[in-house]
Amino acid sequence: MADLPNALQAFHEAIKDCQKCALATGRTQVVFGSGNPAADIMFVGEAPGYYEDKEGRPFVGAAGKLLDRLLQEIGLQRSEIFIANVLKCRPPQNRDPLPEEVEACKPYLFHQITLVKPRVICTLGNFATQLLLEKKIGITKVRGRAFQGKDYFVFPMLHPAAALHRETFQASVREDFQHLRAFLDQGLPPTAAQEQMQLL
Ligand code: URA
Repeated sequence: MADLPNALQAFHEAIKDCQKCALATGRTQVVFGSGNPAADIMFVGEAPGYYEDKEGRPFVGAAGKLLDRLLQEIGLQRSEIFIANVLKCRPPQNRDPLPEEVEACKPYLFHQITLVKPRVICTLGNFATQLLLEKKIGITKVRGRAFQGKDYFVFPMLHPAAALHRETFQASVREDFQHLRAFLDQGLPPTAAQEQMQLL
């Protein structure tokens, strides 16, 4: 079996010159994702911003600093999760992703998911939530609870950037992280493979 870090690295290598959409012309680099390649918990944001584009890593700017703090508050560290974005390239002036950009880029995210095999995918904000729930639904309607899919739970959360743009969102952003903690504390059900092992 191919080992996961190598498979992820090989995939990064394979897409680093992507030209599937117009964002290729304005980017410094593809921002692939980072963290534990075999994480049980994956976070999916929207798209790289200025600092992410320069550094090549997701969530290194102001929203990333806040994300680190929120993770720490619920006892999680970056090193134990995997973080990626819906778009791998920075949109100009950090505008919202266009539908055709999401369409072009989404196979990359779904392939990353098959390689990392997370049990829970925390979707930050509307774009990641709608993509993973496969539903055009507003984040405020679904935030802070888990939706069971075939291979993983989707756990929609407000994007940390919401708290940076509007102070009134701070408590709600934090509340979603507390709800995630409570969900994780219930313990994740065994995977089909784990159940099989228990039978042997
Ligand atoms: N940085 C990222 O990498 N993604 C976001 O969604 C926001 C900031």
